[in-house]
Amino acid sequence: MNEYPAFTDPATWSPIFRSIVNRNFGATALAVVPCPTKGHKFDRPVRPGTDLCEECIARFPSVLADLARYWPAVVGAIVKSPSGGGQQKVQTSGVRDVSALWNPAATLVRAELGDWVSFMVRTVYRDRPEPEWIDRTLGRVPSADVALNLAVLAKYHSRWLASYPRLGAALFADALQHRSAAIRCLQVTPMRRIQLDAVCTVEVANTQWGPIVCEGQLVAVFPHDSDDIRPSQILCTTHPDHRVPTGEWIDYYFQAENHAGAGT
Ligand SMILES: [Zn+2]
Ligand SMILES: [Zn+2]
Repeated sequence: MNEYPAFTDPATWSPIFRSIVNRNFGATALAVVPCPTKGHKFDRPVRPGTDLCEECIARFPSVLADLARYWPAVVGAIVKSPSGGGQQKVQTSGVRDVSALWNPAATLVRAELGDWVSFMVRTVYRDRPEPEWIDRTLGRVPSADVALNLAVLAKYHSRWLASYPRLGAALFADALQHRSAAIRCLQVTPMRRIQLDAVCTVEVANTQWGPIVCEGQLVAVFPHDSDDIRPSQILCTTHPDHRVPTGEWIDYYFQAENHAGAGT
């Protein structure tokens, strides 16, 4: 079962071999390295040659499989038509999403999880030593289907990824984090949003020709089931963590008020 030679596991060493290692490499070579996962500590030493304990390595595929199952729900949670009138054609003065319900947390999860999965796919293509077999599992042209990639990674590559020195532990921690973010975003109550005639001005890069701004579409977000015309947030649809500070809302406030009035 263990792919690593027995001598890599200090627990199997004889006292004489231990003293030789100790003399030549110092006590650090003999120290038990604790698994970094919360609660695992010293009673769960890492598997030799990796940064995670056996239990965490074995658990990684099931966390990836969970993420593959949650993915369609996360994508579906981003924008929802209000229930009861979803397909009706309503004149909304050209503001298409005036009454759509939006879940900014799901937007963020989709972006971050998508990036993370494509990083793992790239790592497999770049560093795993069996190109033909990788083509058979992941496909010659990597799929853009995030759920499919997650399922393939879970089935064929999760053990290799989780055992990757200096990367496996971070991937496992990321997987747990993405899974709780996905569960959390599915429990968020979506909000009403109104598209503003304005784009995001958050600076994303500074070049020799000057700053480059995000230019994502700005939306005003309102609490669901509320007639309040004051937005609770003004934020960017490309990067929901770009927000317009409350002090600058006055510039957008009247637009939001007009659209809210026209839509209801
Ligand atoms: Zn562990
Ligand atoms: Zn932005």
